[in-house]
Amino acid sequence: MKTRITELFGVEHPIVQGGLMWIATAELTSAVANAGAIGFMTALTHETPEGLRDEIRRCRDMTDRPFGINLTFLPTLRQPDYAGYFQVCAEEGIEFIETAGRNPEPFMPMIKEAGMKVIHKCTSVRHALKAQTIGCDAVSIDGFECAGHPGEDDVTSLVLLPATADALHIPIVASGGFGDGRGLVAALALGADGMNMGTRFVATQEAPLHPSAKQAILDHNETETTLIMRSLRNTERVLDNETARKVIEIERTGTATIQDLIPYVSGKRGLQEVVRLGNTEGGTMAVGQVMGLIHDIPTVAELIEGIMLEAEEIIGQTLPGLLGG
Ligand code: NAD
Repeated sequence: MKTRITELFGVEHPIVQGGLMWIATAELTSAVANAGAIGFMTALTHETPEGLRDEIRRCRDMTDRPFGINLTFLPTLRQPDYAGYFQVCAEEGIEFIETAGRNPEPFMPMIKEAGMKVIHKCTSVRHALKAQTIGCDAVSIDGFECAGHPGEDDVTSLVLLPATADALHIPIVASGGFGDGRGLVAALALGADGMNMGTRFVATQEAPLHPSAKQAILDHNETETTLIMRSLRNTERVLDNETARKVIEIERTGTATIQDLIPYVSGKRGLQEVVRLGNTEGGTMAVGQVMGLIHDIPTVAELIEGIMLEAEEIIGQTLPGLLGG
């Protein structure tokens, strides 16, 4: 399949593995690259830019195909050295950057000077337009179904995607609610040039997290996510578990600050409890509503091959058949 997204990244399939905190490491992203799609390793998973440099080299040892780096500018408990991470990307010859969380404008001169291409992930048409204006090469538009941070507008992919396609001329990746070949065809029909998957990639053999955490994605359905940190206007969609319910209880007091929530929402707690120990009640776990469509834990190659076969069958057989009579 050839789209503006396969052409932009020089890959075989219009499938993107966006940045996933703690999960998008060399193991997962190299597997995505080797399967003919494009993956982004998450810079902030590494405490320092030098840690990211080692990870980039590790990924290069596992694949000779293109991959990129995700830089997320959401509020964090620490003050990341963003310029340092970008510098390492430039020095290591990274070609593609995925930005998210806030307008990447302050870093655009540095990114462009290094010859890197930028796909900006955002959750509204106005932010997508801004990304286009400041010179981003593509946008990843994230519907309300998504895992993690859906923004505050609550517009689902079914409307957000065509609205974005109507407004933009640069390539668009559909994100939020996508996990199979049906989703890919729908994304293309709605005006996207490819689809991004997050939760679906977490439930793969190569994703570096405890098997019980992967199993939790299979065991829960589309109704079992919830929204935390709404009161801080930093909403996050996570698994509806004990920790998330505790966070919501504190938020209901009406006076909660980030300091009150930190003991429950900190990424370090999620890393230790969910990712390492597989205790899926003991920390927050970002998952999307697409959980309801995930019933297996394939290898990345099996997943991507299956999605492409399903999409090709729908486009080549099912849909033309509707026009037959
Ligand atoms: P962290 O431990 O610093 O923070 C945990 C959560 O609290 C994050 O959602 C963060 O945005 C939020 N937060 C921190 N300080 C805040 C403040 N002052 N006001 C409002 N909210 C605040 O985060 P981490 O786990 O080390 O992750 C690093 C970055 O990656 C963060 O920007 C985080 O949002 C992002 N992230 C994204 C996803 C996702 O979208 N799926 C998942 C995990 C982390």
